[in-house]
Amino acid sequence: MTNFRTQAIHAGYEPNDEHDHAAVPPIYASAAFNLGDALRGDALAAGELDGFEYSRVANPTVDALERRVAALEGGIGAVAVGSGMAAVTYALMCAGEGGGRIIAPTDLYGASVDALGDFLPQFGIHADFVKDINDLDEVESKIGPDTRAIFAETVANPSTEVLDIEPLAALAHRHGIAVIVDNTVPTPYLLRPIEFGADIVVHSTTKGITGHGNAIGGIIVDGGHFDWTNGRFPQFTMRQQVISDDRAGEWHSFGEKYGSAAFIKRIRIKYLRTFGAVQSPFNAYLSLVGLETLPQRVSQQVATATRIAEHLTHNPHVTKVNYSGLGTTPQYELVRKYFPNGVGQIMSFLVDGSPENVRRIIDGTKLFSYVPNIGDARSLIVDPAHITHREVPAEARRAAGVTDNMLRLSIGLEDVDDLIADLDQAIAGAY
Ligand code: PLP
Repeated sequence: MTNFRTQAIHAGYEPNDEHDHAAVPPIYASAAFNLGDALRGDALAAGELDGFEYSRVANPTVDALERRVAALEGGIGAVAVGSGMAAVTYALMCAGEGGGRIIAPTDLYGASVDALGDFLPQFGIHADFVKDINDLDEVESKIGPDTRAIFAETVANPSTEVLDIEPLAALAHRHGIAVIVDNTVPTPYLLRPIEFGADIVVHSTTKGITGHGNAIGGIIVDGGHFDWTNGRFPQFTMRQQVISDDRAGEWHSFGEKYGSAAFIKRIRIKYLRTFGAVQSPFNAYLSLVGLETLPQRVSQQVATATRIAEHLTHNPHVTKVNYSGLGTTPQYELVRKYFPNGVGQIMSFLVDGSPENVRRIIDGTKLFSYVPNIGDARSLIVDPAHITHREVPAEARRAAGVTDNMLRLSIGLEDVDDLIADLDQAIAGAY
């Protein structure tokens, strides 16, 4: 069972005795699980036996989602969390913990820029921002003794700039540094970054994975190839009580105990267990159902987005369309290499006129919902400078191309002609 469409429906869940043969993964709405007898309880707590104890650490519905997304991304394991931002910050903190530095572009989702530039520094984790993450000389010039990871979006929101993962990963690995990517926009249907050398993949499952705008969630997937004991990451080589048995005098570090799974185990055992941003079983269930149609939804959205982007290039009030899928940008070769099935359903465009014209376009759309989200079955419109990238400092906003005359679209599953007609009338009516 290796094909993506089959895995999207079946991976991670068996309708067997364990689940009373329920065809669809059930919602296990239970905070805790019976430990059985004292010996079983002790073995579960020691991690010697697979099973569930308490839903802050693991839950069977959430487990099915974790296994399914890990299979779809080609990872060795995953941990689902309460939101995409929990996934981003847990992954960055787990790599940067204890005074590390992260190299990143500013062309990122607004809250990720704020986390790296403003908030994580309060916890001793600092960012080195680069202008162009695909410029290997610029990236290499930022690598120092405390650098732990490079973080970027595989398709940036809202520019749709594409990440050249393979050479970046080769550079990072030469220096013993990990590559963490946010694969939210393309979803694993359009891109599987681990196959190109990424070490850790994060998602906001709120978007394309769930696909209906009805559940906030996030997930971290571990590719299982990175050596976290290479000397740059003291958190993986120090002995820790939570995975040791002091009564037996046995002490372990995450690296020594879990080897290639050290990162994802630390995310669950330290981050999820301590900071507790769990994904609810109900949201995991919605994501599991959403994933069943991921290939079909995304294929249609890519086809519609491509037609809309092309159509917008002919509108006299549209001065620029950002959609790497158009095949007209300097990134064309990268798009062909990494995205043979398209770059996804978001795009942005710039219009002439004043901020008043931008407001009138937003208010004039009838089919597009004015919603700060992406990857929904509904088509959405937003003005990033005021909404999704509001917390980004002006200079970084400019560097990411987020100007006041920019509008971002997330294309849904409506009829393409209806969507084009709606945009045409909204733009025409705004001037
Ligand atoms: N990463 C990207 C690329 C996003 O677009 C978003 C949200 O828009 C996030 C992360 C954060 O996800 P969430 O809203 O689920 O926390």
